[in-house]
Amino acid sequence: MTHAHPRPRILVLGTGGTIAGAARSRTGKAYGAGEVALETMLDEIGTLELEAELAARPIARIGSQDIGWKEWDALHREIAAAQADPEIDGVIVTHGTDTAEETAFLLDLTLPAGKPVVLVGAMRPSDAVGSDGMRNFANAVRVAGDPESADRGVLVVMADTVFAAADVRKAATANVDAFRGYPRGPLARVTPSSLDWFAPTHRTGSAARFAWPDALPRVGILTAGAGMDEKPVEALLGIGCAGLVLAGMGQGNAPQVVIEALGQAAAGGVPVVRSARVDEGMVDRNVEVDDDAHGFVAARALGPAKARVLLMALIANGITEPKRIQLAFDGR
Ligand code: ASP
Repeated sequence: MTHAHPRPRILVLGTGGTIAGAARSRTGKAYGAGEVALETMLDEIGTLELEAELAARPIARIGSQDIGWKEWDALHREIAAAQADPEIDGVIVTHGTDTAEETAFLLDLTLPAGKPVVLVGAMRPSDAVGSDGMRNFANAVRVAGDPESADRGVLVVMADTVFAAADVRKAATANVDAFRGYPRGPLARVTPSSLDWFAPTHRTGSAARFAWPDALPRVGILTAGAGMDEKPVEALLGIGCAGLVLAGMGQGNAPQVVIEALGQAAAGGVPVVRSARVDEGMVDRNVEVDDDAHGFVAARALGPAKARVLLMALIANGITEPKRIQLAFDGR
């Protein structure tokens, strides 16, 4: 996709996060996420004289730990409208880093590829010494305004690096380069004045994989721990979870009593996906756990947070049969 307009026209949707965070001191550690208005951030980015026209639309001013259905629904609606608007060439979402991987992946699953859509955040508040926010924002403008960013699905820009939504995760609590990609690493390196792609897009086809639903079901994540019993499984089923994700040890393992309780949940029609609490790696079918016998789904390359997002999207689209769910996890 190419755009004829000399200066790309970019819609910026603000949700808050540390990129809009303000601290009480330039060197202290306490700060509030989302305290800086989107317009103020755009005024500051305006001083950089980037080759782009930016329009702002605030969605929320919250830490991304509080992002949920309301903000996702608004973001989806705004981005879908922007994709259909010939006056807009790309979209930037300013977002907290804690749940960037969830929002990016959910939008990636439910929006067509096409115009660039870029999530950007920061690890340090806007007024902290060495703040990374404006740098990341300027990089996001570069990516969102580049015709080569089109048809790649939702992208995440952090620390001069561009990741695909399906791969990206927050892997460190405090470093500026806190994000990693798995199984694919970065797609591009970016600075405010350069953008170098060195990986092809992973998106196949341009259509959205799933329809945007009217609501998302409750899907619980159960983190396995040594010596635990099956009571937490019963508790999650007791609050009406429509699906369960196991954040298991190693290759998605858990104590046998937990596996048995999860097997009963699966037999009762509640989809169960086994993922790993380990930071990185694949969870494959039938390694130490007999997925065929228990009716489980293996999360493959998706960690617990993204496995939950995919399972919510599947259930919301009426896909609850383990074999069909497994196909979706295999294909991501
Ligand atoms: N808790 C913050 C958030 O996710 C952290 C950040 O943005 O870096 O909104």
